[in-house]
Amino acid sequence: MTYIAIIFAVLAILDIYPARVSRNFIFRSKQDTMEDRAVLFASTLSGIGEMTEESSRRVYEAIDFGAERSLRVVVVDDEFYSVYDNSTSENTEGKLVLLTDLRAAMDGNDTVFCEYQDGVITSRAAAPIMVEGEIVGAVYLYEVDDELGGLLYDMQSNLVRISVIVCVGVIIISLLLSRLLTRRIAELLKVIRRMQDGKYGLHAKVNGTDELSELAAEFNTMSDRLKKSEEMRRRFVSDASHELKTPLASVRILVDSILGSEDMPPEMIREFIEGIGEETDRLTRLTESLLNVSRLDAKRPKIGAVDVGGVVQRVTRNLNPLAAGENISIELSLDEKCIIDANADDVYQIVFNLMENAVKYNHPNGEVHVFLYGKEEQVTLIVADTGVGIPEAEVDRVFERFYRVDKARSREAGGSGLGLAIVKTAVEQFGGSIEVESTLGEGTRITVVFPAAGRRAKG
Ligand code: ADP
Repeated sequence: MTYIAIIFAVLAILDIYPARVSRNFIFRSKQDTMEDRAVLFASTLSGIGEMTEESSRRVYEAIDFGAERSLRVVVVDDEFYSVYDNSTSENTEGKLVLLTDLRAAMDGNDTVFCEYQDGVITSRAAAPIMVEGEIVGAVYLYEVDDELGGLLYDMQSNLVRISVIVCVGVIIISLLLSRLLTRRIAELLKVIRRMQDGKYGLHAKVNGTDELSELAAEFNTMSDRLKKSEEMRRRFVSDASHELKTPLASVRILVDSILGSEDMPPEMIREFIEGIGEETDRLTRLTESLLNVSRLDAKRPKIGAVDVGGVVQRVTRNLNPLAAGENISIELSLDEKCIIDANADDVYQIVFNLMENAVKYNHPNGEVHVFLYGKEEQVTLIVADTGVGIPEAEVDRVFERFYRVDKARSREAGGSGLGLAIVKTAVEQFGGSIEVESTLGEGTRITVVFPAAGRRAKG
C-alpha cells in the first residue's frame, strides 16, 4: 500500500507539473503577440491621423494578420462607439461597445489577458490610439485559438491516460506480488503452528531462491533436527526407565520374599539382603551413567590441556584389581607428551570405559594392550583386547545408548549399555573420532583420534 501511494503521488505530480509549465509558456507567448498586435494596430492608425472605418480596414489589411481568421478586431472612438469591426456575423459598427478592456485602454493602459478552457485558448488585448498626445479611441483584439488549445488538451489527456494505465498496472502487479508473498508466509506459518502442536519433522515448501525460500529451507533443517532429538529423547526416557525398573523389580521380589516367609533362616535372609545390596549398587551405577550422559548433553565442559598418558596410567592402576581377578594382563605402550585440549574428567571417563570394557569382555588369562602416540596434528589412543569380540552386524550399534551385545554378560559385569555412548559423545565433544574393529571370538580394537592441543577446530 505504501508503494502504491508513493507511485500515485509521483504520477499526480508528473501529470500536473508539465501541463502547468506548458500552459504558462503558451500563455506568455500568446500575450506577447496579442499585445504587440494591439500596440502596432493603434500606432499605425494614429500615424494615419484619421480614425474611420475605411482607414481601420486599410490598417487591418496592411498589417496582414494572415490566416488567423479567428482574430477579431474592433476599433472604437473616444465615446466607445464602434468605428470598425472585422466580424461579419456580429458586426458592431456604429454601436456602443462597453468593454472593461476598452475602458482601461481609454485610460491610457495597454491590457492583455489569456484564458484556457476545455481545449480552447481565448486571449484579448486592448491599446489606446493617440493622436497628438490625446487619446482619440482604442483598439480591441480578441482571439479564440482551438489549435494550440487542442494540443494542450491532447497533452493533458494523454498524460492522464498514461497515468491511469500505469496506476492500474501498478495496483494489479502489487496485489499479485503481495498475495504471492503473503501466501508463502502463511504457508510457512501454518507449518510452524502445526509444529508447535508437537508434530515434528514437518516440511515447508521451498520454491525459488529468495530469502523466503531460504527461510523455509532453514526451517526444514531445524524441523528435522527437532524430530531427531525428540525421537532420541523419547527413546532415551523409555530405555532409561526400563533399565531402572529391572533392578527395582528385583529388590521388590527380594523384600517381598523376606517379609512373606515367617521363619526364614537367618543365612537366607542375609543372602537376600546381599542381593538387595547388589541391585542397589547396580542402580547407583546406572544413575551415575545417566547423569554422565545428561551432563555431556547439557553443557560444555571446562577445557584445559590434558596429558592422556597420565590418564591411562591412573585408569590402569584402578583397573588392576579387576583385571587381576581374571588374570588378565594390561600392557601399556605410551608415547610421552600426548597432550590434547579437553576436560580431564571426561578424558578419564573415556579411557576408563574403553579399558574397563576390554577387561570385562575378555577371557580369563587374556590381554589388554593400550597404545598411545602423538603426531604433529593428532593424538591416537588404541585399546585392544583378546576378548569375546563383537559380531560384525552389531559393531555399529555398540555406541547406541543401552545397546548391549550380550545382555546377560553385560549385566553380570555391571554394565548398563551406556558406557560407549558416553565415550562417543565425549570424544566428539573434543573434536575427535572413534572407530571399532572386532573379530568375534578373537578380540576388539577401539581407536580414538583426538586433535592435538592447539589444533582443535573451534566450533
Ligand atoms: P556396557 O555397560 O554394557 O559395557 P557399553 O556401551 O560400554 O555398555 O558397551 C556396549 C556393548 O558393546 C557391551 O554391552 C558389549 O556387548 C559390547 N562391547 C563393548 N566393548 C567391548 C569389547 N571390548 N569387547 C567385546 N564387546 C564389547
